[in-house]
Amino acid sequence: MELINGNEIAQHIIEELKVKVSNIHGPKPCVVFIRVGEDPASVSYVRKKEKTAASIGIKSRLKILPENITQDQLLNEVEKENQDPSVHGILVQAPLPSHIEERIIFNNVSPQKDVDGFNALNLGKLCQEQNDAFISCTPAGIIELIERKKIPTEGKHVVILGRSLIVGKPTGMLFLQKGFPGNATVTFCHSRTVDLQSYTQRADILVAAIGRPQFVTGDMVKQGATVIDVGINRIEDPSRKSGFRLIGDVHFEQVAPKAQFITPVPGGVGPMTVAMLMSNTLQAFQKSQ
Ligand code: NDP
Repeated sequence: MELINGNEIAQHIIEELKVKVSNIHGPKPCVVFIRVGEDPASVSYVRKKEKTAASIGIKSRLKILPENITQDQLLNEVEKENQDPSVHGILVQAPLPSHIEERIIFNNVSPQKDVDGFNALNLGKLCQEQNDAFISCTPAGIIELIERKKIPTEGKHVVILGRSLIVGKPTGMLFLQKGFPGNATVTFCHSRTVDLQSYTQRADILVAAIGRPQFVTGDMVKQGATVIDVGINRIEDPSRKSGFRLIGDVHFEQVAPKAQFITPVPGGVGPMTVAMLMSNTLQAFQKSQ
């Protein structure tokens, strides 16, 4: 079993980005984070993104909006950033409060500033395999891990647990693309899949993105599989200063002995998501020049 060290690979990408950003003369790339409300996970994710941007030399600005903001008011705030020529990337932190339709907000972020890749135009371009699309950061991070570890995908059976727009669907589309990483046969599973285990047991690469702690157990995984654990589940843990710990969707102790490659939680896909966001921001800046 080999652990895929997402922290190390993400740091590598960040170092590469630092060099590229330091070579920019004049105004640096700038990303705006829009956070609605005080959801503790969102607060912590955005803080991490701000810190990483600063470490690279990417400018960032945080806009905090009240939980009870209306959809129209939020659209108005997004539009202000769309119109601001000094802003190259816009990220609206999900999840948004239930009275706001996320899809509408994402579709109103300018496609040229959509560093999260959730806009319908960028998702459509991904399906069309147009290489100028912004690819959503977690799927892009997963593919980057596969590429950097040179894990074969051609003709392999990739099983994705989860069909969300943010993770499951775009990840499957990337594995399906022509070329490497890609050319895989992809199966999507979700909460209505019957006999889930019969699919997971046949996966050469298993991606777990369902948000259920330790859902994937040892008996669900084929010997020698690559297992990518996307899940981030906050479990109460009074012994920790923070009061919680993070665990994945995969039962690591049971699955790791059977896997050829496996990502840990934390330290697997999570840091890659942040690194790919920074890479998308630099790309947005370059396209704007
Ligand atoms: P969603 O809740 O949007 O989607 C979850 C998916 O899992 C749905 O398609 C759902 O099926 C499916 N699912 C739920 N329960 C089961 C089950 N028992 N069996 C089979 N399928 C099931 O979550 P996200 O895609 O946004 O996130 C998934 C996980 O990844 C979460 O833990 C999240 O925190 C984490 N995450 C991690 C990131 C990172 O950077 N590492 C970034 C983004 C998310 P159905 O569609 O039928 O409801």
